[in-house]
Amino acid sequence: MIAMHASAPQYDVVIVGGGPGGATAGMVLARAGKKVVILEKTKFPRFHIGESFLPRNFPLIQELGLEEEFKKLPHVPKLGAEFGMGDDFNSSRFTFRIGLLPGSPTFNIERAVFDEMLLNAAKKSGAEVRENVLVRQIVRMRDGDVAVMTDQGEITGKYLFDASGQSTLVGKHLGTRHPHKSKHLKRIAYYQHFEGVKRLAGEEEGHPAIFMSEEGWFWVIPINDKVTSIGLVMDAEIAKSLGVPANQILQWGIARCPVVRDRCANATGPEKNDVIADFSYMCKPYAGDGYFLLGDAAAFMDPIFSSGATLAMMGANEAAGRIIDVLDGKMSPATARKKYIKLVEGSTSIFFGLIRDYYTHSFRELFLNGQGPLNVHGAVISILAGQVFPKPAWALRWRLWFFRLCMLVNRFYPLVPKRKMFSLREQQVPTETPDAEADLASIGT
Ligand SMILES: Cc1cc2nc3c(=O)[nH]c(=O)nc-3n(C[C@H](O)[C@H](O)[C@H](O)COP(=O)(O)OP(=O)(O)OC[C@H]3O[C@@H](n4cnc5c(N)ncnc54)[C@H](O)[C@@H]3O)c2cc1C
Repeated sequence: MIAMHASAPQYDVVIVGGGPGGATAGMVLARAGKKVVILEKTKFPRFHIGESFLPRNFPLIQELGLEEEFKKLPHVPKLGAEFGMGDDFNSSRFTFRIGLLPGSPTFNIERAVFDEMLLNAAKKSGAEVRENVLVRQIVRMRDGDVAVMTDQGEITGKYLFDASGQSTLVGKHLGTRHPHKSKHLKRIAYYQHFEGVKRLAGEEEGHPAIFMSEEGWFWVIPINDKVTSIGLVMDAEIAKSLGVPANQILQWGIARCPVVRDRCANATGPEKNDVIADFSYMCKPYAGDGYFLLGDAAAFMDPIFSSGATLAMMGANEAAGRIIDVLDGKMSPATARKKYIKLVEGSTSIFFGLIRDYYTHSFRELFLNGQGPLNVHGAVISILAGQVFPKPAWALRWRLWFFRLCMLVNRFYPLVPKRKMFSLREQQVPTETPDAEADLASIGT
């Protein structure tokens, strides 16, 4: 039943948040002639972490007609990825070409410029974009009748899209935001941008690198000609126990990680790192009476496989399409919700599963080995490329199950060479400067 309030709603859809999720939805809705407003609390361009994109993102950018705009932005082509232990200079590298399903090359990019391009595209498509507008609370949410209170007054619409990222406006309002059960997913990320970081040669230059340790893992992602994003994602309890100030943990880690330290030998960057909570959560159901949750407002996943921005944009595209059907009288709100929830559940659950696998040593041993029977590695790479929409193909799913069986067997009967877990805490800092402050000097800051 569609509820109607006394006065007609101002908009067909009110979107909270102008990141990749909100901007994509706004663009698609406006192009379909719907009256849509995007309420964004900051002024773009604004900094955001999350700079590496899945191959599945590039065809979406093409479908949205944004390829030309995108190519004007400084970015680094990403053809594959690099994984290794923090003390192992023989990392494993793969390209998406060897995936079981064909995948396109993708990119790493500074989010400030990418997100601004998307928000401008939404504006050009006819969406009303209101920056520096903070949504303070939800006033009501019913199919056909929603209202939010902003710092500039009340705004009404027929549907609410929550794309507020980790603010999870609706999840908090409804009390549906729940942390993921796995203890492995209570993490904190310490990150910073550097210049002068050593890169791989040739077509491997844009490979995001993941270097693993017992305490957490580093990302090293070239995002334009000069800048490389480096982060350390750590178990929250271990990070607390180090006794190192939070804004120096990245430098503490780099100084103790031979491979990252080597890449940073001539690097320059700020002395202190930024910090962001990295606790995986879900706000189920992902759609309900009057609302759809997009991207991180629906679920946040550990960023090990760089899936967040792509899943946000793919989900936003789907939510917008279904609400266009509803507004055009071609679909009931209940059916629209069902279809949307199915898509988001299908794509997020396979990633949640792989992330859980990644935090087991057996997965890392098999994955770093780089090959296996029945093209299981090709299947895992295709999933990591984002070939999971509308749902992962059978050819990928059964190989993933087989891979998991191998993980189990490998724990008791080694199927691949054993790898010793590398520990940052056990490392000696290779200078006469053991304290965190002096560590900064050793990486050239
Ligand atoms: C450490 C870390 C590393 C990551 N690495 C990657 C990566 O390599 N690749 C990748 O794809 N993803 C990565 N991610 C995840 C990625 O950043 C997110 O999944 C992605 O930004 C989600 O897009 P979104 O549009 O849902 O939310 P966001 O991009 O967060 O956008 C939400 C917007 O809503 C606005 N907003 C919030 N509250 C309000 C309010 N009340 N009123 C008005 N506006 C509001 C915010 O200002 C923001 O602009 C990473 C995340 C973390 C924490």
